Amino acid sequence: MGKVTGFIEWQRIVPKKRPVAERVRDWHEVEAATHGPLEADALRTQSGRCMDCGVPFCTNGCPLANPIPEFADLVWRDRWHDAYRQLAATNDFPEFTGRLCPAPCEGACVLGIDDTPVTIEAIEKAIAERAFAEGWVAAPVARARTGKRVAVVGSGPAGLAAAAQLARAGHAVTVFEANAKPGGLLRYGIPDFKMEKSVIERRLAVLPPGIDFRCGVTVGRDPTWAALRADHDALVIAIGAERPRDLDVPGRELAGVVLAMDYLVEQNRVIGGELAHAAHDVRGKRVIILGGGDTGSDCLGTAHRQGAAHVSQIELLPAPPAARGATNPWPAWPLVFRTSSSQEEGGERTFAFRTTHLTGEHGRLTALHGERVGEPGTITLPVDTLILALGFTGPDTRLLVEQLGIAVDARGNIVTDARGATNIQNVFCAGDAHRGASLIVWAIAEGRAIAQAIDADLRRAL
Ligand SMILES: Cc1cc2nc3c(=O)[nH]c(=O)nc-3n(C[C@H](O)[C@H](O)[C@H](O)COP(=O)(O)OP(=O)(O)OC[C@H]3O[C@@H](n4cnc5c(N)ncnc54)[C@H](O)[C@@H]3O)c2cc1C
Ligand code: SF4
Repeated sequence: MGKVTGFIEWQRIVPKKRPVAERVRDWHEVEAATHGPLEADALRTQSGRCMDCGVPFCTNGCPLANPIPEFADLVWRDRWHDAYRQLAATNDFPEFTGRLCPAPCEGACVLGIDDTPVTIEAIEKAIAERAFAEGWVAAPVARARTGKRVAVVGSGPAGLAAAAQLARAGHAVTVFEANAKPGGLLRYGIPDFKMEKSVIERRLAVLPPGIDFRCGVTVGRDPTWAALRADHDALVIAIGAERPRDLDVPGRELAGVVLAMDYLVEQNRVIGGELAHAAHDVRGKRVIILGGGDTGSDCLGTAHRQGAAHVSQIELLPAPPAARGATNPWPAWPLVFRTSSSQEEGGERTFAFRTTHLTGEHGRLTALHGERVGEPGTITLPVDTLILALGFTGPDTRLLVEQLGIAVDARGNIVTDARGATNIQNVFCAGDAHRGASLIVWAIAEGRAIAQAIDADLRRAL
C-alpha cells in the first residue's frame, strides 16, 4: 500500500487556491486547477504517504466507507482507472464530495496522530476529475427493468443518490423537485466559488437511464403526498431540512435583515440565469453575518464578491481551540479553529457575542446592539444588511404529517428505522429530512442505503 517510507519522505501538500485578489472578482471555484487540485506527480506522492496502517480508520471515518487505502495505493501505482472503479463502487458523486466534504476521513487518518493526515479529499477529487476527462464515467445500464415505479421527492444529494441506485437496479424512478432545476442545496445553497454548477450538469448527463425529472413540482400541493404514494410502489422523502432558525430580538422586522438562504439562493439564481438581479445585493454596504458556521462563511464569500464595503461574521460561541482538546481525541472529528477560503479573503470574525436588539431609521436597519458573553456593557455596531445564518430547525413536514401521517421526532425530523423506512409502509426517508441539517456525504450515504432497502423489498414482491 502506498510507499512504505512515503509518509517520512513527503510532507502533506494541500491544493493551491487562486490568489484572493483574483478570485474575489469572479464566481469561479477558488481552487487553482480545473482538472485536479494538485499536479499529477504531487498526487502520486501524496497517495504514497498512505502508510497501510492495517486498520483503515479513514474508511471508518467516511460515512460512505470509501476504500481509501485501496484507491490511494492505485493512484500511487499510476492505475487511475482502477482507482476510479474502486471509488465509484462506494460513492456515486465523488466530484461533489471531493470539492465539498469536510473530510472526516482525514480527521481519522492514523498519520494525523502525530503528523499531518493524507490529503484524501484532494486525491478523491483528482480521481473523479480524471475519470470525467478520460470518459470513464458512463451511465450504468440496468441488466433488466423490473416494472416497479419509485417516486423520489427532492433532488439534493440524498434524492439523486437514491434515484441513481434505484434506476441502476432497473426500477422506473420519477424525481419530483420543487425548484426549477435538480440539485437541492448543491445548486441553490452552495455558492459557485465552492462548486460550479457545471459540475452538477455534468453528473446529471451521466445518470443511469430510467430517471424522469419533474422540476417545478411541490409535492403536498399537487400532487398530494397520499396521491403520490398510491401511484408508486415506493416513495422516497428527500426534502432536506429547509426551515431556517430565526433571530428573536426586537427590531427583527426592520428592512435590511435577510435570512442566509434567501441571500444565497438569490445569488445562485442570478448566476444560474434564473434571476436577472439580486434584490439583496450588498455592494457598498456594511454587512454583518450572524452565525460562524459554513453557511455564514458562504455568505461572507458571496458578500466579498458582491463588493460589500465591510463584512463581519459574529458567532455566539467562543472560538474553538487551535488544537484538539483532551475531550476530543483522535479519531473523532477535530473540533478546532478553522479558516475557510471565504474567511481567508477578508472580513472580521467575532466570537462569544450575543445580539440583544436591532435599531433603525424609517423602518430600515442601521445598528446592531449586543454584548460580549460574560462581560458587562452594550456594544453598538453600524450595519446596513444583517444576514441571519443561524442554522436550520428541520424539514417542513406539515403536509407530510397531515396527508400521510408521517411520524416526526421531538426535533421535527422524520423518524426512520435502521433501513431508512418511516412508519408508513413503502415510504422511506434519507438525508437532512431525517438527520437534520448535515453533510453531503451523509446524504449520499443514506440515499444509497435506502435504495438498497427499497430494491430488496421490491424484488421480494416480483
Ligand atoms: C449554504 C450551505 C452550504 C453548505 N455547504 C456544505 C459543504 O460545503 N459541504 C457539505 O458536506 N455540506 C454542506 N452543506 C449541507 C448540505 O448541503 C446538505 O447536508 C445536503 O445538501 C442535504 O442533502 P439532501 O438531499 O438531504 O437535501 P437538500 O440538498 O436540501 O435537497 C432537498 C431538495 O428537496 C426539495 N423539496 C423540498 N420539499 C419538496 C417538496 N414538497 N416537493 C418537491 N421537492 C421538495 C428542495 O427544493 C431541495 O431541492 C451546506 C448547506 C448549506 C445550507
Ligand atoms: S467522502 Fe468525505 S469522508 Fe469520505 S473519503 Fe471523501 S472526503 Fe473523506
